[in-house]
Amino acid sequence: MLGVKSFLIDSGIEEFPNVEAKDIRAAMPILAKHDVPYLIHAELDCGGFNEVVINEKYNSFLASRPKKWENDAISLMVEMARESKAKGDNCKVHIVHLSSDEALATIAQAKQEGLRFTAETCPHYLTIASENIPDGKTLFKCCPPIRDNQNREHLWQAITDGRLDFIVSDHSPCTPELKHIDTGDIEKAWGGISALQFGLPLIWTEAKERGFSLVDITRLMSRETAKFAGLDQIKGQISLGFHADFLVFDPNTSYEITNAMIKHRHNITPYAGRMVTGQVLHTFVRGHHVYQQDQFNNVPIGKPLLKGQF
Ligand SMILES: [Zn+2]
Repeated sequence: MLGVKSFLIDSGIEEFPNVEAKDIRAAMPILAKHDVPYLIHAELDCGGFNEVVINEKYNSFLASRPKKWENDAISLMVEMARESKAKGDNCKVHIVHLSSDEALATIAQAKQEGLRFTAETCPHYLTIASENIPDGKTLFKCCPPIRDNQNREHLWQAITDGRLDFIVSDHSPCTPELKHIDTGDIEKAWGGISALQFGLPLIWTEAKERGFSLVDITRLMSRETAKFAGLDQIKGQISLGFHADFLVFDPNTSYEITNAMIKHRHNITPYAGRMVTGQVLHTFVRGHHVYQQDQFNNVPIGKPLLKGQF
C-alpha cells in the first residue's frame, strides 16, 4: 500500500463514510509506523450552505462548497500533524486536489514548522476559471469546485514557489449517465473531471507562457509524484536501473481537443473545443513501445505497484 485516503466530508458513497478528528488520531500512528502518507480530501462541512439550490447553475454549485470548507479542513489537518509530531509519530499528511487559494498560507506555515505536510493541485484548477463555465455543463463539476480566475492565478504562484508540491490528474472515469449530461443537473451529477489524456498538453500550454521549461514539468508531473509515492528508486527519472517509462513530446504543435480524440473508456471531457499546444507522439512503458501517432501497439502491460514489491 502506497497511501491511504480519507474524506473529511460525506464522500457521496455509502460504503466510504467521512472521518473525524478521533479517527484521524487513531489512524496516524499506524500510518506513521509503516511510513505511508495520509491523503486527505480536505472539505469540512461547517454548515450554512446546505440550503443552496443548485439545479443547473454553476455559480450556485460554487457557492454551496465555499473556500472556508477547504480552509477549515486544512487547518484541522495541520493541527493533527502537529499533534502527531509532538507524539513522535510525525505522520505524513498530504492534501489531495487543492482548490482554495486561501489555504495556501496554512500549508506554507505547516512546511515552515517542519511538519511532513504536502499538497497537490490538478490541471482543471490550473486551466479553468469559473467565470468561463457555462450553466448546465455538468462535465465541469468536481469537489472541491473549480473557482474564479484570481484563485487560479494564486495556485500558479504556489506551484512556482513550492507551496504546492506537484500536479496530478485526479482523473474521473465516470459514465456519461452518472454525469447527467442530458439534463444539465449539476446537483445530481457525479463530481470529477475526465481529462487524463490531456493533462500534459493542458499544463504545458499554460506553463510555457509562465516561463516553465519541460524540465520543470517533468519535476512537477513525474519526479515529485514518484518520490511522494515511494517509487523514486524505479520511476521519475532517466537513470541506470530505472524503468524506461518515456514519452516523445512535440512541444510546438497546436490543435483543438475533440471528443473523437479521446482514448479513455468514456469519451467525455470538459475540454472539448479547447486549443492546446503540445502533443504526445510516442509512449514507452518499461522500455516497451506502447503508443505511437494515435495508435496503441500492444496489449496493456501495466502492473500493479505495491509497496516493496517493484
Ligand atoms: Zn477527493
